[in-house]
Amino acid sequence: MKQKQGLLLIISGPSGAGKGTVVQELIAKGGYALSVSATTRSPRPMEQDGVHYFFLTKEAFDQKVAENGFLEHATFCGNQYGTPRAYVEEQLAKGTNVILEIEVQGAFQVKEKFPEAVLLFLVPPSLAELERRLVGRGTEDAETIQKRLGRALEELELMTKYDYLVVNDTVAEAAEDIAAIVRAEQQKCSRQKAFWNEFKGE
Ligand code: ADP
Ligand code: 5GP
Repeated sequence: MKQKQGLLLIISGPSGAGKGTVVQELIAKGGYALSVSATTRSPRPMEQDGVHYFFLTKEAFDQKVAENGFLEHATFCGNQYGTPRAYVEEQLAKGTNVILEIEVQGAFQVKEKFPEAVLLFLVPPSLAELERRLVGRGTEDAETIQKRLGRALEELELMTKYDYLVVNDTVAEAAEDIAAIVRAEQQKCSRQKAFWNEFKGE
C-alpha cells in the first residue's frame, strides 16, 4: 500500500499562551513527532540544546539559511527561528503527524509550501491572563515581556487567517480540543488518496 502522508499541524499563538505546555501534553498522548527548531536566542535555564531548540550562533543560522536547510525561518522579537527541513519531510513521508510550534510569519511560509497543513491558533482566555502567564513563567526580563506582549497584539490580528482557534483555559481541555481537530482533519475526503488506492487494490 502507498504510504499515507502524515498530517502537518502548525500551532501558533502569543508568547505565554501555553503552546509549549499544551504541545508537551499532546506529545505525551502519542501519535505526533515534534519538530525541534533552531534559534539564535539564548537558552533559558532549563533548556537543553537539541531537545528544546538547536541553539545556533547568528553565523551558523545564516549558513543553514544559505544551504536551504530550513522549511521556513523568521525573526521574532530580535531573534531568528527556523524549522529544520529534513526532519519534517522524513516524518511526513513515513506517515507520522508532525507538530510545528512556530510564530505567524513562519506559519504562512509553511502553508504556501504545504497547502494541506492545518493552522491552529492557541490563545489564553484573556489578555490579562496572557500577561499573568508570561510574568509567572519568570524566564524573561520586564523589557522582553513588554516586547512580547506588543507582538502578541499584532499576532492576534492575523488569527483570522488560521483554520482553528483553541482557547487554552485548562491544558487538558486544550490538548483534547486539538486531538479532536486532528482526528476530524484526518477523516477529510481530500486526505483519503492512499485509502482509495488500497480500496481499489492498487
Ligand atoms: P508559550 O510556549 O506559548 O510561550 P508556555 O507553555 O511556556 O507558553 O506557558 C507559559 C506559562 O503559562 C508557563 O508558566 C505555563 O506553565 C503556564 N500555563 C500554560 N498553560 C496554562 C494553563 N492552561 N493554565 C495556567 N497556566 C498555564
Ligand atoms: P520562544 O523564544 O518563546 O521559545 O519562542 C518565540 C516565538 O518563536 C514563539 O511564537 C514560537 O512559537 C516561535 N518559534 C519557535 N520556533 C520557531 C521556528 O522554527 N520558526 C518560527 N517561525 N517561529 C518559531
